[in-house]
Amino acid sequence: MEQAAKPKLIDESGRRLDGRGPTDLRPLKVEVGVLEKSDGSAYIELGKTKVFAAVYGPKEAHPKHLAVPDRAILNCRYHMTSFSTDERKTLGMTRREIELSKVIREALESVVFLEEFPRSAIDVFIEVVQADGGTRTAGLTAASLALADAGIPMRELIAAVAVGKVDGTIILDPSDIEDKHGEADMPVGIAPRSNTMVLLQLNGKMTKDELKKGLELAQIGIQNIYQAQCEVLKKKYGVSMTEV
Ligand code: ADP
Repeated sequence: MEQAAKPKLIDESGRRLDGRGPTDLRPLKVEVGVLEKSDGSAYIELGKTKVFAAVYGPKEAHPKHLAVPDRAILNCRYHMTSFSTDERKTLGMTRREIELSKVIREALESVVFLEEFPRSAIDVFIEVVQADGGTRTAGLTAASLALADAGIPMRELIAAVAVGKVDGTIILDPSDIEDKHGEADMPVGIAPRSNTMVLLQLNGKMTKDELKKGLELAQIGIQNIYQAQCEVLKKKYGVSMTEV
């Protein structure tokens, strides 16, 4: 198949297609407790990327044979709605969604006190309602907030963002077009209070120096997202995770 010509992603003055500089996040909106039926929920918007997360539990594990005697199991489903992409996404779970569900689950397991709820299950649902790049990182950020909103004991929150390389420049928070036409895309998830990396993937090519720069840039973006997470929790509960 013929490949579409690669658009110029950074102009002479260093501006990206949406007007951002290389180190700018897209406009960020974070909300918590947005859904009534679940035990905890959150919503995140990064530019045109829009993601909900909902949490149920802890509750008795079903089917019972899945229960683990000394801890809760954490189920996680990352899913893109059919209307989240330019071309209607197929119904049902794709291989990509199954893999991302696992990667996000493993990141969340590292911060939840699962041992406090033996034989239980915690269900985390991530629904991407509009996808414009960075949905796995937005999903992880929202899921950690939804767990906190459900009152599930956690060591700390997780904040995540992707960095990329386009036209030879390392950029923060790539949009879909930058992701598709760029040279590299690297989603990063960090538990900021302990400064622990809980998710790191790299598609494409970066030199060692670019990788270092990318990680530094991701940390800056993550600090901003983390601040927004703490603020919404503080607004709803009067206390932020940094104070507990
Ligand atoms: P992430 O959303 O975490 O960056 P990818 O790098 O796999 O994950 O995808 C980048 C972007 O590509 C998505 O955010 C979305 O805009 C688009 N995309 C992913 N899967 C599909 C799909 N099945 N159909 C159309 N666009 C998709």
